[in-house]
Amino acid sequence: MSEKLGFVGLGIMGLPMALNLRRAGFDVAVYNRTTARGDALKAEGAKVCATPKEVAENADIIFTCVSDTPDVEHVIFGASGIIEGAKAGSVVVDMSTISPDATRDFAKKLAAKNIAMLDAPVSGGETGAIAGTLSVMCGGKPDVFARVKPYFEKMGKNIVHVGDNGAGQVAKACNQIVIAVSIEAVAEAMLLAEKCGVDGAKVREALLGGFAASKVLDIHGNRMLTNNYAPGFKAHLHRKDMGIVMDTAAKAGVALPAATLATLNLDAVIKNGDGELDSSAIYKVLKKN
Ligand code: NAP
Repeated sequence: MSEKLGFVGLGIMGLPMALNLRRAGFDVAVYNRTTARGDALKAEGAKVCATPKEVAENADIIFTCVSDTPDVEHVIFGASGIIEGAKAGSVVVDMSTISPDATRDFAKKLAAKNIAMLDAPVSGGETGAIAGTLSVMCGGKPDVFARVKPYFEKMGKNIVHVGDNGAGQVAKACNQIVIAVSIEAVAEAMLLAEKCGVDGAKVREALLGGFAASKVLDIHGNRMLTNNYAPGFKAHLHRKDMGIVMDTAAKAGVALPAATLATLNLDAVIKNGDGELDSSAIYKVLKKN
């Protein structure tokens, strides 16, 4: 028998993820701070709740997908939070991108109430969330992962159990390094082509057939060449994630010079008033200098 599901946070990512769970036929109780975001789920037969606590009262497995670390803390431990309604034996699955250290603390606090936790941040953006093709990187106990995996399979295609609590968030930090540094590299390549009077579109086309090929060269490179910075993934959210990367690296005693440079350039994007644009707007910063 399938378990009863809950979903807290129906933003760009959470709404299509919760819809995919509901459309797969599961009982789903939902909460969003801005209540109108629950309408599409109500129309599909989901139970719309007034608080995260009420979601937890109606679910065995409660997914969260909100913005940042303090927001996850708020919906789990704040007033009328998940912890007030969750039964012993239930699971909280946080799919937001947040701090690995805070995640481990949250898991400990929940375990004291006999509630398990998984961190399961995702990659693949809004299109992957709608299509149910996200990459899910999960931290937590293997038996809890096995219990939740059938539900992950309704939201994602590449589902990897990375390690214990926090390991999923570390994997996501690694993901964000690769993307940020790749954007930086593609932007520098496009800039060099332009300054040499060579057609950047032709350079991109040539590079896409060799070892330099990547999704970032393809998608973000095209955004740079066409001057189209509609997000995608907003620069200020990417900067939030690089803050997690930098904090995690500092605690681990690791220097990340390329990630540091990409972070500074994201700061410059935001300083230029472009934080709501796609993070490929790093190219605009390089062109200005
Ligand atoms: P979003 O569209 O801005 O949605 C954020 C959601 O969090 C909204 O439902 C918002 O409620 C809720 N929220 C924020 N603070 C809250 C609080 N203090 N209390 C209660 N609810 C709160 O963001 P998103 O793009 O869905 O991103 C969600 C998470 O997924 C983030 O951690 C992000 O880094 C990660 N992510 C995003 C992408 C992407 O491409 N967008 C890809 C991978 C991972 P309201 O509707 O009331 O504001």
